[in-house]
Amino acid sequence: MRKSTCVILLLTTWLFFPSVQAKPNILYIMSDDHTAHAIGAYGGRLAALNPTPTIDRLAKEGMLFENAFCTNSICAPSRASVITGQYPHTNGVYDLKGGIEGARQFLPIEMKKAGYETAMIGKWHLKEEPAAFDFYTVLPGQGKYHNPEFRVRGEKGWPRDLVKFEGAHSSDAITDITLKWLTEERDPDKPFFLMHHYKAPHDYFEHAARYDEYLADVEVPEPENLWLEHQPDFGSIATLGFNRELVPHIGTSIGLRNPRRSYAVDLPPRFPKDFPENYDPADYTEAEIKKMSYQAYLKTYLRCVKGIDDNLARLFAKLEEMGEWDNTIVVYTGDQGFMLGEHDYQDKRWMYEESMRMPFLIRYPESIEAGSRTDAIIENVDFAPTLLDFAGADIPEFMQGGSFKEICETGKEPATWKKEAYYRYWMHMAHHDNPGHLGIRTKDYKLIFYYGCNYEGGYRTPPAWELYDMQNDPKEIRNLYDDPAHAEIVKDLKIRLAELRTRVGDNGEDYPKAEAVIEEFWDYDDKDRAKAIEISHEFLSVREAELEKKKK
Ligand code: CA
Repeated sequence: MRKSTCVILLLTTWLFFPSVQAKPNILYIMSDDHTAHAIGAYGGRLAALNPTPTIDRLAKEGMLFENAFCTNSICAPSRASVITGQYPHTNGVYDLKGGIEGARQFLPIEMKKAGYETAMIGKWHLKEEPAAFDFYTVLPGQGKYHNPEFRVRGEKGWPRDLVKFEGAHSSDAITDITLKWLTEERDPDKPFFLMHHYKAPHDYFEHAARYDEYLADVEVPEPENLWLEHQPDFGSIATLGFNRELVPHIGTSIGLRNPRRSYAVDLPPRFPKDFPENYDPADYTEAEIKKMSYQAYLKTYLRCVKGIDDNLARLFAKLEEMGEWDNTIVVYTGDQGFMLGEHDYQDKRWMYEESMRMPFLIRYPESIEAGSRTDAIIENVDFAPTLLDFAGADIPEFMQGGSFKEICETGKEPATWKKEAYYRYWMHMAHHDNPGHLGIRTKDYKLIFYYGCNYEGGYRTPPAWELYDMQNDPKEIRNLYDDPAHAEIVKDLKIRLAELRTRVGDNGEDYPKAEAVIEEFWDYDDKDRAKAIEISHEFLSVREAELEKKKK
């Protein structure tokens, strides 16, 4: 009798509470340019300012990935890798010109097949209509911070249908759209897969007016490597030029180092309140100007971050109120990292850690231990396979990434899990003066190869290699490539990098002229070094001629 009562009880439970068996919802939150070291849970110099109490909750109640990397640190390529599970050379989104049409929006396509209702809300930035999603409301292109307009599905078709949010800040509007979809518009009988993407804190960091005074009286800590001139062992001829002759021309600056673009010039007219009254740069030394620009940069960036964090508090509270919070896998990430003055660099694009590393936090109390951390290497191409795995969906063969669900659930890496991340930045010397480069990141080392040319092998900057010891020099202050004690490590990493390129399929077929440069400087013998010096001098003349022309 007792046994059958048990069976009946179990059956009744299953029949009346089917949600116990139901698939979890998936909320994928991605902010534009939100770097890991601007999140409290990641520690570092900004943690003392407590910039992200809400996002930190995901770390406390879930898992934090210390080694999550993008394979190309720039917006559209990283987003394309997330949606397709493929590297840029495979999905064709090498740079900002690329797009992914509906038929290749594999992540939502597979989620839909697995029974999910799919939605894309906020910054999309992949040019084509997000047609594979059941629902979308997205910013056109970069979108606007204030009074944003969004594109929605409509009779007239992409991209003509617009809804406007007069008087709103984009972070508030994106959250409002998501809350409305969650509570009024979605099908409550289906699990949801929602991509909720903020435009903030992308440049130029326009925050909502309510954050004007946030951090106003605070001195934001400077990175120890804010001054290139105080890092004698950082970089190479590729990033500094021969005898540092290209210091003004490689990498955009916080101060006045690079005449092409700098925050010392760009920020005072945009954020006058963060500079002294009647600010005139002529009254200050270059060092003072740089320090002021750094403060303005970080404050306005962190005000945007605060706007995200406060909006996420609203979103999380709503999920709790709806009873969906614990049945939802919540991911927080950025589309790449961001340099916050380290090595006097701004923006992203670099393979340096602050730019290449992405935040990645995941909360799902059902199977992920609260407060867990891992140093497993994951790449943005792994996100789609992992989320599909959590959804019980198929992971298509053509996705190049793998699922790290097991790492989330056990904290342990399967024996076959990847030991290295591949990186390649293609947009040679575009916008922020970063040379084309590629490389390999292991848990212990990072080997960067600045091959220094555009797709067609032109506009050459000096090629060179850089090696950093990530365990003993996490701020990447000492390039060890020429250190004889590291010769064997360099040799080994070059072999692994060549194998990795083959494995991921970046074989140079698409741009053979750039590949010829890569081949020529791969071994970097004395002849290559001499040629790099020549190229350094040539590039300096090219740049100076360009500046001259600009003056006229
Ligand atoms: Ca971005």
